[in-house]
Order: sequence, then structure tokens, then C-alpha cells
Amino acid sequence: MSASKRILVTGGAGFLGSHLCERMVEDGHDVICLDNFFTSQKTNVAHLLDKPNFELLRHDITHPIFLEVDQIYNLACPASPGHYQYNPIKTMKTSVMGAINMLGLAKRCNARVLQASTSEVYGDPEVHPQTEDYRGSVNPIGPRACYDEGKRAAETLFMDYHRRNKVDIRIVRIFNTYGPRMHPYDGRVVSNFIRQALLGEDITIFGDGSQTRSFCYRDELVEGIIRMMNGPEDCLGPINLGNPVEFTIRELADLVIELTGTKSKLVKRPLPADDPTRRQPDITLAKKHLNWEPKVPLRDGLAETIKWFRTIRLEDYRAPTP
Ligand code: NAD
Ligand code: UDP
Repeated sequence: MSASKRILVTGGAGFLGSHLCERMVEDGHDVICLDNFFTSQKTNVAHLLDKPNFELLRHDITHPIFLEVDQIYNLACPASPGHYQYNPIKTMKTSVMGAINMLGLAKRCNARVLQASTSEVYGDPEVHPQTEDYRGSVNPIGPRACYDEGKRAAETLFMDYHRRNKVDIRIVRIFNTYGPRMHPYDGRVVSNFIRQALLGEDITIFGDGSQTRSFCYRDELVEGIIRMMNGPEDCLGPINLGNPVEFTIRELADLVIELTGTKSKLVKRPLPADDPTRRQPDITLAKKHLNWEPKVPLRDGLAETIKWFRTIRLEDYRAPTP
């Protein structure tokens, strides 16, 4: 184990954040989990509350906070289209003001700060698979812009704080990730399909289902984030983290049907505006600098996720308000 550090995880009660907190606690670090519980619940970290090296703070990162820490993982931000479009202005504030507050904190504490950016910075990409030097094709005035442009602005702030103020930064661009502890009503494709299949409801394919995504299992993604935080001094990123195996949404639906054994039927729904047609990470840089490459096949990761979905009570989760 590396020397114990004081680690802040913003968005620490969320899907990825809670797993990251778990890993950091297991590794013996002093972990502060900061969250406003906009898209998560305390149950995600309830099992950590009695650990002496874990602390839970209710706070909104659009406001500054005074703490003493060595590393900051900045994950706070609604992540699914339904959640981030619920209050788009707040989403933009969380990305931009949150980045400023976390960079300011890192500057004062001399801490290293990692930004959870996203494949959405590439928008509906004309380059396939997406490499980090591709500058993206984002509609700045569309319904996804609050998230895409917010995350792009956050990357700009990270680079400028680094160039101007020598803040020690890291940026990862995360591609679609799934696994246990996804919010069952977040509206993302994996959680929707599994929930619908287990309830025997229609499985909603948006568009004709030929659009693609590349799905990474949660544990492997979190391992990549940790490697990036503790990686080589000169590797600031942005660096893509995701599983490069690409699936159509129709293929995903078929797999969920097979693995759950459901009698649910597929139904077509309109494709949301600006929905990216294809998405697949080029992970050459992550392989080279972090020695990181996902190995969990979608079939195995989905089986684990379905197992977890079978254990939860849906009534314990709030659905996003329309
Ligand atoms: P999530 O919604 O489960 O977690 C986000 C957490 O941030 C939640 O606990 C939420 O309550 C909290 N939060 C939101 N706004 C906040 C605010 N203003 N102040 C404090 N806390 C706030 O989503 P996730 O999938 O765990 O995503 C974590 C991060 O990874 C996000 O920044 C997201 O953009 C990024 N990311 C995730 C994916 C993915 O596929 N899961 C892909 C790309 C990027
Ligand atoms: N999607 C779908 N049915 C659903 C939810 C999503 O067909 O019930 C599609 C969506 O239109 C998109 C893809 O699945 O093409 C992935 O959507 P998600 O919201 O999970 O993430 P995105 O990658 O678009 O941010």
C-alpha cells in the first residue's frame, strides 16, 4: 500500500464515486466523501460510515469549501442525460464553478486534482474511434450542451490553472460505464434496459438501435482513474478511459434479454436530439502511460449488474422528476 493520503472525492456518494471511496478506504487513506445527493443516496456509502478513515460531508461544490487534503477526485456532476438536463443551468454551474472551487482548493493545499471529464466532449464525433487530440463536434446550443460544454469549460479551467498557477492536475475522459450501484431511474441505457427487463416492461430502443456505445465495467474504470491520479508526473491527460469494444444499442438490448430471460418486447421510441451516432474510445495512451486496459466482457459485467439489480428495492430510489 502507498503512504496514507487525505483524499477528497466530490460526488463520492454517486455510482462511480462510491466505488472509488470504497477503494480508497480499503487502501487505508483518509477519505472525505463530499456530495449534495442530487443524483445519489446515502445508502451507496452507508457501509463505509463506521470506518474510522471515512467521513461524509453534505456540500454543494458550486460553493467554496475549506479543507486540508492531498488529492482531490472531482466527480461531482449529474451524468446521465435525464439527470443533467433536469436543471441544465445547475449542471453548467456544477461543472464550471465546481471546477473553479476544486482548483482553488488544490492550489491552496498544494494538492493534486483529477477531473472526471467525459467522452461527451467529442459530441457526435466525425473521428472514429475517438483519440484525445480530436477536438470534437458539439452543438453548443442543444439540450446536451449544458453537460458537454460544461465539461469542456472545466477542462479549459484545469489546463489554465496548471499553466498559470502550476496546479497539479489530471484529466480523464470517461466513456460509458456501467455496473452495480447505477441509479435504476437515471435513464441511461444499461439501467433502463435491465430495469425494464426485470419488471417485464417494454424495452425502449431510441431511434433504430443502430447507434453504438462502448461499455466499460465500473471496477475497471475506477482502477483506471486511480492509476491516472497516481501515474507518471508528466501524464496530465486528457486521457481516454473506456472499453473499446463497440456495441449497437440493439445488440445491448438482445444481450439483456438473453441474460435476464425476460419476456419483454422491444419497442421503438424517438431518438433524442443530438444523440451521438457512434462512440468508441481509442485507449492507446491509457495502455502506454497507465498500463491500463479493460478485460471484463460486456456479457460478464452485465451479469454482475443484473445480479445487483435483483437485490435492490426500486421504491428506495427517487425517479428523476420530468
Ligand atoms: P452519478 O450521478 O452517480 O454521480 C455524481 C454524483 O455527484 C452524485 O452523487 C451527485 O449527487 C453528485 N453531485 C451532483 N451535483 C453536485 C454538486 N453540485 N455538488 C456536490 N455533489 C454533486 O454519476 P456517475 O456515473 O458516478 O459519474 C461520476 C462522474 O463521472 C461525473 O462527473 C460524470 O460526468 C463522469 N462520467 C461518468 C460516466 C459514466 O458512464 N458513468 C461517463 C463519463 C463521465
Ligand atoms: N437509449 C435507448 N433506450 C433507453 C435509453 C437510452 O435506446 O431507454 C440510447 C440513447 O438514445 C443513446 C444510448 O442508448 O443512443 C446511450 O444512452 P445513455 O443515456 O446511456 O448515454 P449517452 O451515451 O447517450 O450519454
